[in-house]
Amino acid sequence: MRRTAGVLVMEHIAVGLVEGNKVVGPLRMVREKADSPNALHSMPADKIAESIRQQLESLAGEQIHAIGLGFPGVIRDGIVEDSPNLQQIKGFNLQASLTGALKLDGKDVPVRVFNDADAMAAGIAATRGKLGKLNRVWTLGNGIGFGRFPWSEGVWEGGHSVVTLDPKENFCGCGGRGHLEGILGYRSMRMRFLDMEPEEVFANAKTGDTRCADFVTRCHRALAAATATSIHMEGPGPFYLTGPTAKFIDIGLLGRFVHEMVKMSPLQGSPFEIIPPNDELGVIGAAVNAERAALSA
Ligand SMILES: [Zn+2]
Repeated sequence: MRRTAGVLVMEHIAVGLVEGNKVVGPLRMVREKADSPNALHSMPADKIAESIRQQLESLAGEQIHAIGLGFPGVIRDGIVEDSPNLQQIKGFNLQASLTGALKLDGKDVPVRVFNDADAMAAGIAATRGKLGKLNRVWTLGNGIGFGRFPWSEGVWEGGHSVVTLDPKENFCGCGGRGHLEGILGYRSMRMRFLDMEPEEVFANAKTGDTRCADFVTRCHRALAAATATSIHMEGPGPFYLTGPTAKFIDIGLLGRFVHEMVKMSPLQGSPFEIIPPNDELGVIGAAVNAERAALSA
């Protein structure tokens, strides 16, 4: 069976060997400091590429046909055109820097770079036998990622959907006003509530703190609004929520808000599901997308 290498760069780097929509052997993880969730923020672009390259080279000797990589940001032709939460890599040609990391029969193994949320969407679709359907994913953390499977050429920066016209909403990492990430992004929440951590905001909302409860409602409305826009553009279907802060979301409340926002009968029926943070799914998805791209090339 064909084997593909999958790489997921989210808060850290995970590398694995994928065969038949499963990870074979151990996932290899790179963290600058084991306990730092934001280690990549302080790592220069070429060092990130070098870390990935070293992990890939440890797979040398395996019969690998393609390398797939999921990376946060706007990715085009292997170049990271922008990555608001890893600014140092803006404009970096990740595909070129990894080409030659592995060889098969003396030839370079092709490298394909995808958006990290697209890799998650592919991994979820592949492991649930839903490769024939439209699957969408919100990845919730410092950044808000939007991913879809099947992979499709485009920008898909759904986390920067405008969900409010209030000009005072300016906490988004990209600098744009009124964005979903400016409300629901972890770093944006910390900037809004300088006196408490996001975990405390969500806990206090449950015990009746009005300011916190209002904000939690607003978070759910914001995510519902961006989801409703996606449904109005591409139709209904399952939405998966994953990433470190997906645990804050009440999918019952989210579903009710989406129902208030999407009323046309052919657009009904978009279930939500929370998927706990899982590197394997992203590694599998990056490999699945690379394999599909290699087959269609
Ligand atoms: Zn933004």
